[in-house]
Amino acid sequence: MEMAKIGATSRGGSNRQALSDEDAAGRALFLEWAHAAGCQSEVDEIGNLFVRRLGRDDSLPPVLVGSHLDTQPTGGRFDGVYGVLGGLEVIESLNDSDTETEAPIELAVWTNEEGARFQYSMMGSAVWSGKLSLGAARSLVDVDGISVGQELDRLGWAGKRSAVPRPYVATFELHIEQGPILEAEELEVGVVTGVQGFRWYTINLHGSPAHAGPTPMDGRSDPARAIAGIVSNVYAMAADFAPWSRATFAQFASEPTSPNTVPERLTCSLDLRHPEASTLDEMEARFREIVNSECGGLGVQSEIIVDNNSPPVAFDRTCIEAVQVSVDELGYSNQRMVSGAGHDACYVASECPTSMIFVPCEGGLSHNEAESITAAQAARGASVLLGAVRKMAKV
Ligand SMILES: [Zn+2]
Repeated sequence: MEMAKIGATSRGGSNRQALSDEDAAGRALFLEWAHAAGCQSEVDEIGNLFVRRLGRDDSLPPVLVGSHLDTQPTGGRFDGVYGVLGGLEVIESLNDSDTETEAPIELAVWTNEEGARFQYSMMGSAVWSGKLSLGAARSLVDVDGISVGQELDRLGWAGKRSAVPRPYVATFELHIEQGPILEAEELEVGVVTGVQGFRWYTINLHGSPAHAGPTPMDGRSDPARAIAGIVSNVYAMAADFAPWSRATFAQFASEPTSPNTVPERLTCSLDLRHPEASTLDEMEARFREIVNSECGGLGVQSEIIVDNNSPPVAFDRTCIEAVQVSVDELGYSNQRMVSGAGHDACYVASECPTSMIFVPCEGGLSHNEAESITAAQAARGASVLLGAVRKMAKV
């Protein structure tokens, strides 16, 4: 709640967009707490912040925890923040009980997870894992033309540590679920086994403009009619792959924008998701067939552009098991699940053994100022994280 005072919004949420003064103030407060807990801190070239609790053998690969402190413009108080402060709570709990771990513990605060101000989600962990070059990340600009590089330099976040992976024995990201499943099932904890893959497409349809009055319905090459068939058939196709499939159409635009002219061009976006790559392939193939058949009969030309292809992520079995054992020892009700949203853990998982822990959030709401969890829910997730860290860092 202290952190949520920084960038507080009128409706009870948080606005600490990446690399803003509010983001910096949030980090400063976090660092004050981390230093008070006896941790050392270091910043890498893309501004990822790492704090470290020494291990008995400090040369061992650490256990990494953490998440992000930046928020959406009308974000909630827990998305990301919970994983960072839950990690700090683990360190403070170990301090309180005078517990040494064999391996050190590192807590990461990744830069620009949200991709709201600078539109590249999970930017800091993308650079760290080699998915995005440092130069490309520094060149990203916000709507005012201010670049990531300028802001990193202004805030003093362009650190000396190289933004490259280091060996970690295990990494865990604690996060709110951001969906309704745990609450609906009345479960206390989600043991996360992976993250859904997603693909973003732009659908461009090209027909023939015509007068809305004199032109008979049968004689039109109408891209609006084609998209109507595409949308309803893709929804039906997604239902065939339930319950984990997702299909989302958005960003509709037509040209010319006249109410009494059949549009010549129509464009929209489609986001397809599924936890299994082979199923996602099948969904894409069916989607392409649907576009061809709906457009063919109408004389509408179509083009499908793949804008983004984020493959599904399967987390590490040992890390998943460490979380499961911790949950079972604590006796919390739980289920295994996949994450519908992307997280820094997706990129981290490509380099190190990784898994995630979810707690339910009220009404499944997230990216929303009303985002909420109870103190008891927060404590359960942090306790599970503590158990998993103790196991992997070896007490
Ligand atoms: Zn998040």
